Amino acid sequence: MSQIIHRSLRTTPAVAVSAQGAYITDIHGKRFLDACGGAAVSCLGHGHPEVLAAMHRQIDQLAYAHTSFFTSETVEQLAAQLTRTAPGDLNYAYFVSGGSEAVETALKLARQYFVEIGQPERTTFIARKQSYHGNTLGALAVGGNEWRRRQFAPLLMDVVRVSACNEYRDRRDDESQQQYTQRLLNELEEAILTTGPEKIIGFCAETVVGATTGATPPTPGYFQGVRRLCDKYGILYIADEVMCGMGRTGTLHAFEQDGVIPDIVTIAKGLGGGYQPIGAVLASEKIVAALQAGSGLFQHGHTYICHATAAAAALAVQQVIERDNLLAQVQQQGAYLQQALREVLGELLHVGDTRGRGLFAGVELVQDKASKTPFDPALKLHAAIKAQCMARGLMVYPMGGTLDGQYGDHILIAPPFIVTRPQLDFVVDTLHQVISEETRKLAGR
Ligand code: PMP
Repeated sequence: MSQIIHRSLRTTPAVAVSAQGAYITDIHGKRFLDACGGAAVSCLGHGHPEVLAAMHRQIDQLAYAHTSFFTSETVEQLAAQLTRTAPGDLNYAYFVSGGSEAVETALKLARQYFVEIGQPERTTFIARKQSYHGNTLGALAVGGNEWRRRQFAPLLMDVVRVSACNEYRDRRDDESQQQYTQRLLNELEEAILTTGPEKIIGFCAETVVGATTGATPPTPGYFQGVRRLCDKYGILYIADEVMCGMGRTGTLHAFEQDGVIPDIVTIAKGLGGGYQPIGAVLASEKIVAALQAGSGLFQHGHTYICHATAAAAALAVQQVIERDNLLAQVQQQGAYLQQALREVLGELLHVGDTRGRGLFAGVELVQDKASKTPFDPALKLHAAIKAQCMARGLMVYPMGGTLDGQYGDHILIAPPFIVTRPQLDFVVDTLHQVISEETRKLAGR
């Protein structure tokens, strides 16, 4: 019996013993194609020799030095790499150990910015339904994933919530895509005005929604509208790209495809590719300048910020992606995957939607395609799909739907950037089989 508090307290997961390329091997010698990178983490696959060598070099020289005494050449290089490749004046980086810490950092940085410029009455964030920003209390407060929030709600700070941008679920039949987008932007503007713009710190959103509804991209023009409203009312725009960032969608940052530049960006998973726990916040010039001119101190910090070994891993991952032009591969293989999902899975009776960007894809399952009615969440279709895929040696990331039917069971697919076409074919064919079998079982009940 395991003495770890695992995610499930009733079952112990399989034991992984080794991993190479796109595959993880368990203690019984069974191989799994890692087509979700865990949770969209392993962007380079496993065991990349150059990343391992960079980590070894770093550990031999300097594993860690506390930031109240030292910086390191490696973390400075990583900051230079990230700020050079980021658009606009996202000229500063802050390094933490993961996504939730990055979101907490972003929220506090945004708040402190307004304190420094003499607007301490700004205490409110606006965020969206159907979103996930992490599991710490601040990140959970901005997140709109009710299942994750439920038990902790009394502890969470109040956040003004607006609709997600989920065209499949929420665009009305009598609306064009443009009208739908405008409706969402009107709702956001109304929320800003009702709250009082002078009380708002920022608007926080995932560019492509990951862990809640499964790779749901925004409609064209949505984030441009968000940017305009944020500028109009002096509100910061915080993009949470912990999951969708760092190349996953085919550009280094997903927001590049929306033609906008946020004030603050959070990144994590694909930053270090799973080789080390690392996340970061990228911040624009005006924010850091305000702190520099004000107190001269960011009132924040953790023991492991700027960790040298984590930075070495992330720097190597990012250098390989850039040198090998892997973003082009994400675009090509992503287009192939998205088309295959659309054509092969789209024909299934219970596949309501396939969507995504680059190598970040989602499949939503419904009981009835015409009405988009989800399966009863109590049936736990997602869990059965996960188990059957694992039995066939495939890792994908299925998630459950909501009790109120806002969205259904769905599957997130996020293979490594080095994935091959035969591997993608295996993903799509296996999903076709498993979805067919599992939904047929439910239909026959
Ligand atoms: N933000 C987003 C968009 C995420 O997808 C996640 C993790 N799924 C987080 C924040 C939290 O990251 P972590 O689990 O590394 O704390």
